Amino acid sequence: MFLHLAVVQVEKATEDGGGLLVSARVKTSEAGCGACGTLSQRIHSRYRRRLQDMTCGEVPVTIELEVRRWFCVNLDCPVRTFAEQVAGLARPYARRTSALRRLLEHIALALAGRAGAHLASQLGITVSRSLLIRALPDPEIGSIAPTAGRGHHRRRSSRPGHDGADPWTRTWSTRSGGAHDHITR
Ligand SMILES: [Zn+2]
Repeated sequence: MFLHLAVVQVEKATEDGGGLLVSARVKTSEAGCGACGTLSQRIHSRYRRRLQDMTCGEVPVTIELEVRRWFCVNLDCPVRTFAEQVAGLARPYARRTSALRRLLEHIALALAGRAGAHLASQLGITVSRSLLIRALPDPEIGSIAPTAGRGHHRRRSSRPGHDGADPWTRTWSTRSGGAHDHITR
């Protein structure tokens, strides 16, 4: 149906509030730790992450992706668990697929603000004009903490230079922040 979904296993597509909800999961049986690169086959848990996607005609499409959290099996790694990522589908912590993000970038570059939001609306994409102005080229969640909660990390990183831009370093640098998982909404 959508070429960019070839990287995941689509399980079903259902009508959901006037839109299309596509349930999918990652195909692979192992995942590499984003911090140390070690491959793991030990699943810690699963959760669902929703991504706004390109429309199908004018029908809004949401991808509900089952994401697995894995144990890092490298005892020397500061990360104890990590969430798998799907290269080509969406950036870590993004709420929109990369395909939709690129489309919004094109719209914003041509028509920022109200005109761009109006055009997106005509294309079936719900996006505020303020987001078109401020979020590009990076519409990711930003400062919201990822899924790791207390106890997910062996220790806090003491490496200098962490600025929060790297989602993997952000994973363990927010351990004491008390924030909750927002990417499953
Ligand atoms: Zn690791």
